[in-house]
Amino acid sequence: MAEEAAASKPLPVVPYLKIPDDGEPYLEGLKCNACGAIYLTERRACSKCGTVDDLTPIRLSDKGELYVFSIIHRSFPGIEVPYVSAVVDLEGGGTVKGNLINIDPTPEAVKLGMPIELTYKIAPRKDKEGNEYLTYYFQPRSQ
Ligand SMILES: [Zn+2]
Repeated sequence: MAEEAAASKPLPVVPYLKIPDDGEPYLEGLKCNACGAIYLTERRACSKCGTVDDLTPIRLSDKGELYVFSIIHRSFPGIEVPYVSAVVDLEGGGTVKGNLINIDPTPEAVKLGMPIELTYKIAPRKDKEGNEYLTYYFQPRSQ
């Protein structure tokens, strides 16, 4: 009769979002020790230089610049539109896709190269076991 218990704290929405027990969440990348290329997903080999088994986890910056974006006007049922889908180059390396929030979703407001920062929020929906998820967004940087 007991249902599967939901986790007592939010789960990361993606594996590269780390949630320390004592500190702020952050994104973690894997950096190639040979050439410095940075990846978000688990891998054994560097696709830039071919080095195998020589990647080190690193904490990525929570600041960056908007590389490219799309303003989404059609999406799945239940997803509020329009919203801004963005790709951000992080300071110190790493390129991350996510949604840009706290900005008017218009071409007049969103500018290529604008400074952004990461912000973390509980995702609006739970899974069927009742688990909450922590996710990340981009927002204009307050400087
Ligand atoms: Zn490499």
